[in-house]
Amino acid sequence: MTDLGLPTVPKQTHTELGGDIGYALTGQHFTIGEGVDVASVAATLAHPLSVIVQVTKRCDMDCGFCSETMQKPDPTLRQLATMEENLRGVIRVFLSGGEPLLRRDFIDIVDMYSEHHIVAVPTNATHGLQHAKGMAGKVAYANIGLEGPRATVLRVRGDYDKEMKGVRAFQEAGIPLALSSVVYRSTLSALPFTIQIADVLDATKVKFILPLRKGNALKLPEHEFISQTEAEDAFTRLKEARAEHMWAPALRLTTWTPQNEGHMIVIEPDGFAQAWPVYDAPDLWEPLGNVLQEPISAIWERYRFKENHVSKYVGRSIHAVPRAA
Ligand code: SF4
Repeated sequence: MTDLGLPTVPKQTHTELGGDIGYALTGQHFTIGEGVDVASVAATLAHPLSVIVQVTKRCDMDCGFCSETMQKPDPTLRQLATMEENLRGVIRVFLSGGEPLLRRDFIDIVDMYSEHHIVAVPTNATHGLQHAKGMAGKVAYANIGLEGPRATVLRVRGDYDKEMKGVRAFQEAGIPLALSSVVYRSTLSALPFTIQIADVLDATKVKFILPLRKGNALKLPEHEFISQTEAEDAFTRLKEARAEHMWAPALRLTTWTPQNEGHMIVIEPDGFAQAWPVYDAPDLWEPLGNVLQEPISAIWERYRFKENHVSKYVGRSIHAVPRAA
């Protein structure tokens, strides 16, 4: 129980999922045996390891890097229930947006999905105060988008103080936290502070991600996009700073390489499943099918990025440093 007497996620550290795959609850990532071949694991899976369900496209922020372009009506609870039934067999579902916590019925959706899946919630946390207690004990972790300290967040994302109030509400409710930071050239100097913030919050990990050229990011000045080499150099410096300051959170760096292409499966509010990001596809989406009409296993069968999917989620196609003991 937390200080507020709320239930916490059980202190289980690892779950074996069969077929050489496991899930590390402490680091919130999938695991695979050291010598195990990703291609053969991908070939034996009948379902994706992880999908993203957009419970809304709406958002109360307007981040400079946001890739959302098209508005679609929110799915009803009945539609979300049909999608959930068709997603059975998927280990982890991100209940995402837009900003998912804008939905007043968000806890009903969490209840619906947490019975059959590990649920994680990517959020800007501005509505954390309303939903934290209802999420406690059901959500494996909240993944907070945060690009650094106040001035950086105000410039690239929005209201830092409102966001941090929500983050503190999650923390008080005992919900495990992770941070995600989109990296611009002009935010490189803020990245060590992001890790410091994560360490103070006892977050499991900090994920650094380069922006994709879609939506608002098309308006970013060219100099804000760093190269693969610059990203790797920055990550090396962050690893050194992490060791020097004894920061505990795991670090991840996702850059956009052929090995990461199409690795995510995003379910839009109208049920359409899309492989994302597919570099030469219109809007970076590749249509896969619709989970209001067919089970995810049928979509998975014709999905051409299975190996990239597994490789990313077991940490083979990204730069990763594990959480300090
Ligand atoms: S990146 Fe996320 S928080 Fe920012 S505007 Fe887009 S949906 Fe909202």
